[in-house]
Amino acid sequence: MSHGLLLRAKTAFPAALGATVAASVDLVQHARPAVRGPLDTTYGLCEHTPPAPVFDEGTGEVRDGSSARLSRFQLQAAARRLLGSGHRVSTCLRRPRTGLDGSPTLGVPICRRLDSGAAYYTGLLVCGNAWACPCCAAKISERRRLELIEAIRRHRAAGGEVLLMTTTVPHTRESCAFELVDAACEATRRFWSGKVRERAFAGVGLVGTVRALETTHSDANGWHPHFHSLLFVAGGLGIVALDALERRLFTRWARHVVAAGLGTASPDAFTLQGGELAARYVSKGWGLAEELSKANVKQSRAFGRTPFALLRDYAAGDARAGALFADYVSAFKGRSQLRYSRGLREHLGLGREATDEELAQAVPERTDEHLITISPRDWVLICRLELRGVVLELARTLTALELEHFFSTHRSTAPP
Ligand SMILES: [Zn+2]
Repeated sequence: MSHGLLLRAKTAFPAALGATVAASVDLVQHARPAVRGPLDTTYGLCEHTPPAPVFDEGTGEVRDGSSARLSRFQLQAAARRLLGSGHRVSTCLRRPRTGLDGSPTLGVPICRRLDSGAAYYTGLLVCGNAWACPCCAAKISERRRLELIEAIRRHRAAGGEVLLMTTTVPHTRESCAFELVDAACEATRRFWSGKVRERAFAGVGLVGTVRALETTHSDANGWHPHFHSLLFVAGGLGIVALDALERRLFTRWARHVVAAGLGTASPDAFTLQGGELAARYVSKGWGLAEELSKANVKQSRAFGRTPFALLRDYAAGDARAGALFADYVSAFKGRSQLRYSRGLREHLGLGREATDEELAQAVPERTDEHLITISPRDWVLICRLELRGVVLELARTLTALELEHFFSTHRSTAPP
């Protein structure tokens, strides 16, 4: 392997991952020097800027460049170390599914899309945990994001307007993650229930809502759980009506925050915005693709770290960040990340809502190419060496024979 390629590999990826990738690239280079061209392209090791995030509908992958996908596999491995083998994330995209009759599988197939070249595993269990698993979260949030964009488009096309309401609750550094999130969810549930709600929204023509639960953590103020709610209302709401609505809704929110035992809500903890903001939030600020961008990492330092930023810091050796991530995972377990109000999906013609697990599962298209089936023995080795992401990146451009060569090189060099 040339020094140039190795250097580019090491600078294009985070340090630890760079070494793995470089080592793997090195093995392939030695195994078959002719693949150097495709590898340069595959890894984006040249001077190209990474492509803008693009979603691959077939694989469910966010095609935001190979480094982001490799980072997700690396972060998932860190979550596995942290949460232990009892947690479902530890088997996600790692353990082969058994046959319907419980029979063991005969290997792990890799498929490749003919249009984009994106490669993906089939026949593996997925955890579908949008809170704890970086690989599943990327697919789930991206698929939900695309559906939300469509929901907003349909509502607007019918003359409606979408408002963005953001609510949070009083919290301190000492607040327990579980109790805080539980109380925030309770305040939100009360806010949206009851007939009084109709009075609060009088004259607005509320069709339905979509609520998203998120959190960050800062050393100064602890956990910061908050809801972003999209309000699908009738069109033509002027600024005066919007102001009046904001005041009414804040009064209602503040009352339920007190009732949930959280103390006094500050007006800063409540915003209602109209215009383009809801659409912009969904198209630009939603989901993990954004979280993995550099801008967001910087931002998270100033305003609190996102959960996956905590996990990233844990992977880099920050044990306290790991403890915080584990707290967060147990506090959010079983909670809905995104919830449509009753009847809204039908109103917008969106059909049945897919489960997180369905969204996280890659479903091969008929036109996709079956590239290779990895033997159970090789798969164990790939998992042990944490090469799952690397193999998928290689599979974008290598032939089955070249991949087989890559596996056999690892077979002969891996420590027992
Ligand atoms: Zn998962």
